[in-house]
Amino acid sequence: MTAAVFRNYIDGRFAEAAATFDSVDPSTGAAWATMPAATAADVDRAVEAAHRALRTGPWASMTATARGKLLVRLGDLVVANADRLAELETRDTGKIIRETRAQIAYVGDYYRYYGGLADKHEGAYVPIDKADMEVTVRPEPIGVVAAVVPWNSQLFLSAVKLGPALAAGCTVVLKASEDGPAPLLAFAELVHDAGFPAGSVNILTGFGQDCGRRLTGHPLVARVAFTGGPSTAREIVRNTAENLAYTTLELGGKSPVVVFADADLDSAANAVVAGIFAASGQSCVAGSRLLVERSVKEAFLDSLKRKAETITIGDPQDPATEMGPLATVRQRERIEAIVAESLAKGGKLVTGGKRPDGGASGFYYAPTIIDAGSPDLPCVREELFGPVLSVLPFDTEAEALTLANDTPFGLASGVFTTNLGKAHRMARGIHAGVVWINTYRAVSPLVPFGGYGLSGLGREGGLDAIRDYTRSKSVWIRT
Ligand code: NAD
Repeated sequence: MTAAVFRNYIDGRFAEAAATFDSVDPSTGAAWATMPAATAADVDRAVEAAHRALRTGPWASMTATARGKLLVRLGDLVVANADRLAELETRDTGKIIRETRAQIAYVGDYYRYYGGLADKHEGAYVPIDKADMEVTVRPEPIGVVAAVVPWNSQLFLSAVKLGPALAAGCTVVLKASEDGPAPLLAFAELVHDAGFPAGSVNILTGFGQDCGRRLTGHPLVARVAFTGGPSTAREIVRNTAENLAYTTLELGGKSPVVVFADADLDSAANAVVAGIFAASGQSCVAGSRLLVERSVKEAFLDSLKRKAETITIGDPQDPATEMGPLATVRQRERIEAIVAESLAKGGKLVTGGKRPDGGASGFYYAPTIIDAGSPDLPCVREELFGPVLSVLPFDTEAEALTLANDTPFGLASGVFTTNLGKAHRMARGIHAGVVWINTYRAVSPLVPFGGYGLSGLGREGGLDAIRDYTRSKSVWIRT
């Protein structure tokens, strides 16, 4: 039996769970909390409550301005409770406290941004060519939204869905990942305290194959907003086909970081190290493929090796820690297998490739750099979702672009150069939803985010995200 007990939030109440599971602290490998495993009946109750709230009751009649104020209040509550939320996220996922604190500060910004936009999302008057007709277009909420998120950055990944969905007037059932759901179940208390009417926001956790499947295939769900892996995305698309729920997908990546010889190499090395080793590499935008101009490759790798080997690995709750454990034991097993296969096929280990000394009981893995040599190695092709950087050299700008685009993914990318023309040409040529030039990992609620190819469909963030949670109703009036 574990000490902390969490509950699902359904129809404005914290519900007793019929089934539970233990959540494990990745820094120790020990169970620390009891989580509710939502059953099919829980999912049905949550979706029905969301559907009722959409049609009747206070949420259905609330003005956009009032909805916006609720969202702003929620953003304020997130910031006021940042320490507790960060501590819980760190405990349940192993992400270091420095990162969870920093991320929660801008989670508040996302709710405030969409709160501010709620009553600025206008419809249209259409000046049609008929003297006796008036046509207006009303943006109406699309319906009940099923939001499904993975275990990394759950507060952030749900803010980019809940913010625009609620601003648009939709109601939501949010499924937290079964790995590390504590921060979202705690966040449900803030939703309640902010005063969202019963049923407008429901938050539960449970396993993908039963609770996730039931939720995304529910006939009353009109819209699915998913973040996770490509194979789950395919299952979800098959599952939503029956009801034709409108679906957006934010998936994985194998993001290239291109370093030209003319770059500020020290600043590029810092960005490359942060780009792959932050969150122990468990980030969809992890810059996991380094493409470096051959003339500076050896010196650049030396600098990366030095920086990687001085990263402080340890207890994720300690503010001095720079890298924590992986979130699950199966994550580490998968990474170990792919690294071993890549080395067997000719990759050269620059550093890491093993469990670090100490931290034996947690799911730790050392910062790892592999001089890949070939673009066909598994470490270059597959998303590892771990602290492993694969390195390939290039000789020309054209070759750099070909290598950057040599992946079925297309989420993010980085380019380091002091040549303005080269920066623009690379930005035009790279097939990815984000190109960061002389920076990496910058985010803002004002800026759209999403993938090309296997990295997904649709965009989150920015003004247009609200439109994606509405559908237009055209009203014709004979005058
Ligand atoms: P995952 O796809 O295994 O799980 C994600 C969520 O889907 C979980 O809540 C899970 O319970 C649920 N799920 C699983 N099977 C389901 C089904 N059949 N029906 C409905 N729901 C189901 O992903 P993960 O391993 O938890 O997370 C890692 C993946 O997420 C990586 O590929 C990563 O790149 C991606 N990711 C993408 C972004 C982005 O914004 N593009 C951000 C973070 C993570």
